[in-house]
Amino acid sequence: MEKIIDESQQGSSLSLENNEKNGRKLYIESYGCQMNFSDSEIVASILAKEGFNTTQDLNDADLVLVNTCSIREKAEQTVRKRLEKFNAVKRTRPNMKVGVLGCMAERLKSKFLEEEKIVDMVVGPDAYKDLPNLIQEIDEGRNAVNVILSKDETYGDVAPVRLNTNGVSAFVSITRGCDNMCTFCVVPFTRGRERSRDPQSILEEVNDLWDRGFKEITLLGQNVDSYLWYGGGLKKDFDKATDMQKATSVNFAGLLELVAQAQPKMRIRFSTSNPQDMTLDVIEAMAKYRNICKYIHLPVQSGSNRILKAMNRLHTREEYFELIDNIKKLIPDCAISQDMITGFPTETEEDHRDTLSLMEYVKYDFGFMFAYSERPGTLAERKMKDDIPEETKKRRLTEIIYLQQKHSFYRTQQHVGKTEEILIEGTSKKSDAHWMGRNSQNTVAVFPKEHYKVGDFVNVKINECTSATLIGEAVGYSENN
Ligand code: SAM
Repeated sequence: MEKIIDESQQGSSLSLENNEKNGRKLYIESYGCQMNFSDSEIVASILAKEGFNTTQDLNDADLVLVNTCSIREKAEQTVRKRLEKFNAVKRTRPNMKVGVLGCMAERLKSKFLEEEKIVDMVVGPDAYKDLPNLIQEIDEGRNAVNVILSKDETYGDVAPVRLNTNGVSAFVSITRGCDNMCTFCVVPFTRGRERSRDPQSILEEVNDLWDRGFKEITLLGQNVDSYLWYGGGLKKDFDKATDMQKATSVNFAGLLELVAQAQPKMRIRFSTSNPQDMTLDVIEAMAKYRNICKYIHLPVQSGSNRILKAMNRLHTREEYFELIDNIKKLIPDCAISQDMITGFPTETEEDHRDTLSLMEYVKYDFGFMFAYSERPGTLAERKMKDDIPEETKKRRLTEIIYLQQKHSFYRTQQHVGKTEEILIEGTSKKSDAHWMGRNSQNTVAVFPKEHYKVGDFVNVKINECTSATLIGEAVGYSENN
C-alpha cells in the first residue's frame, strides 16, 4: 500500500454502493500513484451526486473515465492501449462517452481530442469540480476540456467516497502539486504548484474515518513534509502572508501532532517525503507518538552528488546520511524506503557505484527502482541528452534491485524472534487460513487466523521471514485494540 506505484492496483476499476435513484453508469479505472487513486475517490463522490452509479463492467457503462499517470513513458503507453480497448467497445455502443483524467490529460490537453479521436472529455487534476458542466457539454454532443491548474483547489470540501476499501486503511490527501522542480519529473507540470489543505478539514475527515471503523490513515501528498497551512494559497506565496497568518500557520510536524492527538488509536502513516524538506521536528513528532508509524518513505533517486545536483535534488549525499543518522538516533527501529532512478543523463559507472554504496550505508527496508524515462517538457529533456544506453540503464537497475532484495531480507530478519503489533488488513494472498497485516514499519506479516478479525490490532510473535514477509503466530490482542 505504501508503494508509490502499486503494480497490483494498476488499472483496477472502482465500485461503490449503488444509489437506487441514480440511473447512469460510470466505469472508472485508475493508474499511477496513490494520489491518483485518492483523486478517483473524489471524482466518484462528485459524480454520485450527478446521478452516476459505478459499474465494473465496461460494456455496461454510459461514461468511462481513466485516471492517468505520466511519470514514465510506459505508464502513458498502458493508458493508450486501454483507450484502444475503449474505442473497440465504443464502436458497438456509440452512446458511451470516454473521458481522460489526471496527469496525462494535463500534459496532452486538447491534443487528446485531436489525436485520440475516441476521447470526448479531457479533465486535469484541479478541474474535477467542473465535471458536472463538462459532462453536460459531452451529453449535448460537444467535446469538453478543462485543464486549468488552480492556486487553491485542495478538494478539502469534497468528502471522498471510499472505493474498493478493506474498511481498515484509507488515504487522506493533505497537499496538492509540487514546487520542487526535480529535472527528471513531470509532476510540477501536470499537478501544478504546491498548496496545502485546511487542517480542520483534514481532522474532520480523519475523525469521520475513525467513526466508520477505519484504523489506519496515510496522509498523502507529492511532498508531505512541505505541508504549510496559513489560511490557504500557494506555498510559494507564504512570504507575502500577514504576521497573523504566519504566527498561526501549521507545518507538517504540527499537522502530524494534531492528527495523532485527535485519534490516539488510529495508525498514522504519510507519503511521500522529500529529504530536502524533512526537518527534525517531523522525526521528533514521530518519536513522541506511538500511533505515528515508524516508517519513512524517503526517495533519494541517486547516491552521487554530481547526479543529485543535475537532478536538482537540493541536498548532498552527506546531508542525506546526516538525516538518516538523525532518524535512526531518535527512532532506532524506524524503517526507511527509497525511490531510485538508474541511467539519468551522464550517469557514469562511478556515479552508479555511489548509489550502491549509499544503499549499503542505509540498508533500506524497501525500495522502488526505475530506469530513467525522459519526459517531455522537463528540464532534463530540454537541457540534457538521454545518453545512457537502454541496456546500461537496465543492467544498473538489475544491480540495485538485487542489492535491495539483499537488504530487505537483512531487515526482515531483524524482526524474527520479536513480538510486534500487526493491524489485520485481510486474508493472506497465499492462504485462506492466514491473515495478512502490517507492523508499524510497514512490513507485511502473515499468521493463522484463529478467532481474530479484519481491523484487529494483534500481537504477533515473528518466527521466520522471507525478504518481503514476516511469518508468525498471534499471541493476543495488542493494547491498542
Ligand atoms: N515526491 C517524490 C520525490 O521525492 O521525488 C516523487 C514522487 S514520483 C510520483 C515517484 C517516483 O517516480 C520518483 O520518486 C522517481 O523515483 C520516479 N520517477 C519520476 N520521474 C521519473 C522519470 N522521468 N524516470 C524514471 N523514474 C521517474
